[in-house]
Amino acid sequence: MTLYDDKFSVNKPIKLGIIGGGQLGKMLAMEAKRMSMKVVILDPTLNCPASSISDKVIEGSFSDEQKIYELAKEVDLITYEIELANATALDNLERSGIQVHPSPRTLSIIQNKYRQKKFLRENNINVPDFEQVLDEDQVNKVCSEFGYPVLLKACENSYDGRGNYLIRSSNEIKTALEYFSGRECMLEKFVNFKKEISIMIARNTSGCISYFPVVENIHEEHILKTTIAPARISGDVERKAIDLAVRTMESIKGSGIFGIEMFVGEDNEVLINEIAPRPHNSGHYTIEACSISQFEQHIRAILDYPMPQPSLESEAIMINILGPAGLTGPYVLSGIRETLALPGARIHLYGKEDTKPKRKLGHVTILISDNDPLATRDKVEQYLIVQEAK
Ligand code: AMP
Repeated sequence: MTLYDDKFSVNKPIKLGIIGGGQLGKMLAMEAKRMSMKVVILDPTLNCPASSISDKVIEGSFSDEQKIYELAKEVDLITYEIELANATALDNLERSGIQVHPSPRTLSIIQNKYRQKKFLRENNINVPDFEQVLDEDQVNKVCSEFGYPVLLKACENSYDGRGNYLIRSSNEIKTALEYFSGRECMLEKFVNFKKEISIMIARNTSGCISYFPVVENIHEEHILKTTIAPARISGDVERKAIDLAVRTMESIKGSGIFGIEMFVGEDNEVLINEIAPRPHNSGHYTIEACSISQFEQHIRAILDYPMPQPSLESEAIMINILGPAGLTGPYVLSGIRETLALPGARIHLYGKEDTKPKRKLGHVTILISDNDPLATRDKVEQYLIVQEAK
């Protein structure tokens, strides 16, 4: 049986275009396929992770306007799994009547860290202090105002911490500016956070909002390593986080799922670090641990289907399998049997042929019953080893 929908086309399966065919695109395509949709991907790599699940991959850059128009000709609606999608091309498509979710206007605000933070601040949503910086004199001035350490952030094309430089003293300002030479930058006050937390929250095109539980994230060298669901926080912090997430969704336009990353400060103040207008790594646990996954919720949101308020069916821990330092190229992963012997363990492998340092190659979710989540994480890290393929 095939899914039909009179909003899109009569007697034909819905055709979903996804910009980006990485692991998020793959898991989104898996959900779309469960509902027998046609899936067309735009990605620079023909054999990207989503290629094994999709009907077609258009080879091209996420920013290539013509390739995005080519994608639009083949599908009923477009979404994206990456912020690098060309917002101008998507805006043109939306103006010509093509459905694009989340809205390209929201994408263009989120794509630029300065615009994003400014938007949040203007909507009275708590964020760390920040300032756009245009030259060295201004950097000196703002650094003295904020006090050290300060983070210099590249406003665009920066994700997984690749766009951050920690300035510890005025002696490091020149080096930091050289590091981002020619790029638009902002300075942000360093938050001495107790915890990093996040929420996945969705809105459908009718405006209904529903959110997943607040989870706790542990980063290593700016990359997400572990998510613990639910977050080990007080009811007060949980309420503040949900309030910030809901107010953010009420301020920004567009439908789909959003990942909202936050800091819990020393005084239990909650501040937004970053918004992602797409499924998020810290929402992977929802596949096994929640009544609905972040990927299905995204598809329901953009097709304007009913969206249940997700419930946490089991406590869980998600551990990313990352490419080790010093290894680039073909790899093998060992320890799968030992990991799967852990009660409640599920492994997701993304099918990337080559590893790179810190590249996300897969993840493990473990449904926790009475075991200690961090001890379980340590076991997984001990078992799963990425090595050079011989
Ligand atoms: P980003 O790419 O900006 O989301 O940052 C990646 C990681 O850097 C975050 O998850 C935090 O661990 C850290 N980070 C970012 N901004 C700040 C900040 N203002 N204060 C302290 N740590 C930060």
